[in-house]
Amino acid sequence: MKRLSVFGATGSIGQSTLDLVRRNKDLYCVKVLTGGRNLDCLVRNALEFRPEFVVTAHDDCYQELNEMLSHTDIKVAAGANGINEAASVQVNWAMSAIVGAAGLEPGLRAMQAGANLALANKESMVAAGPLMRQTSRENDVALLPVDSEHSGVFQALIGEDRKAVERVILTASGGAFRDWSLEEIAAATPEQAATHPNWDMGQRVTIDSASLFNKALEVIEAKELFDLKPKQVEVLVHPQSMIHALVGFQDGGLMAHIGPADMRHAIGFALNYPNRSYLPVERLDLAKIGQFDFSAPDLEKYPALRLAYDVLDLGGFSGAVYNAAKEIALDAFIAHRIGFLDMAKIVEAVLERIFVKNISKENNFCLENILNMDHIGRTYAREEIEKNSKYL
Ligand code: NDP
Repeated sequence: MKRLSVFGATGSIGQSTLDLVRRNKDLYCVKVLTGGRNLDCLVRNALEFRPEFVVTAHDDCYQELNEMLSHTDIKVAAGANGINEAASVQVNWAMSAIVGAAGLEPGLRAMQAGANLALANKESMVAAGPLMRQTSRENDVALLPVDSEHSGVFQALIGEDRKAVERVILTASGGAFRDWSLEEIAAATPEQAATHPNWDMGQRVTIDSASLFNKALEVIEAKELFDLKPKQVEVLVHPQSMIHALVGFQDGGLMAHIGPADMRHAIGFALNYPNRSYLPVERLDLAKIGQFDFSAPDLEKYPALRLAYDVLDLGGFSGAVYNAAKEIALDAFIAHRIGFLDMAKIVEAVLERIFVKNISKENNFCLENILNMDHIGRTYAREEIEKNSKYL
């Protein structure tokens, strides 16, 4: 039996992962489940899968979780320390599906404990790509992309000569505001941004899809995962979200990965890797779909994407700062403190500050330095929001 941990089990990716595990319970043994505030879901899953260890990310939820599981022999813990302890449990495979930079350390620890890491948490690669790759190498474990685009690239590259790759094209649905004018987007509310036309995802990643911050993170993630140069990563708007990614080779050929907008394909691919097993996802009827549309992304409407390429040029720790500033700006947008387009303005202002201070260039990618830069990004973003009354 494959021993599994699921970090971020109560979220959209975590639940899709457990859906696949539930269908083949004789193949898997769930050892660890972690969640946040959704204790009902965490406990329901704990009673179903009977893991050894269940953790909530929040210390103030510990007592309630402990009481809810007091009639079982499941070990309960809370907080970042609890999640890190759970990440040290030895398993064969771990799903990294915590949202945000909080997913970085558990993912690193899971790899250090010998787990192949299924990586939904793109923030880990954005903030700490070199460290993630080094940890995977040193512990001889696989880093298996779960973002549908990166899973698509990974699949298109199987058996191919990496040196023959000219470019990688990530597709973007265009999010909730694809057909909105710049003026309409400027006035968009968090509620409007949290509705995705094609994918059913958590609130934060859905809003990031509307701003294309999600795609921006994916551009950086692709560069880090596949060791590409900035110019080798392209973005193409494709409203149907069925072509997830394309890989272009030096002979002019393009290999596209096509599939339904259902994360269980990419999750299942990572779960079954290196095998391809049956997955319960829709089979596309291409004749019925009829056509696929494509267009270039509008960088004026989506400055987040332009900034991602600045990050690639800046290098060093700028990915950690970019992601951290984005997380703070997103919090402020969700709290109705800033407008939709202000998110990118804040991140840009933070990037300018680290560029001027020249503090992004250092290359010692240890966890302590990365967390330090994450802290600087958050602090600068909060200062930008506070000092600039136009955002308030
Ligand atoms: P959700 O918001 O649905 O779930 C996030 C999970 O993380 C929940 O279990 C949540 O707990 C937990 N969590 C929240 N904050 C913390 C914290 N500070 N520490 C520990 N755990 C925490 O997100 P998604 O499942 O949509 O996304 C998860 C990751 O996967 C993100 O990085 C996202 O970018 C990526 N991804 C998601 C896709 C999707 O289709 N959803 C597609 C590709 C990538 P609780 O809810 O109990 O509070």
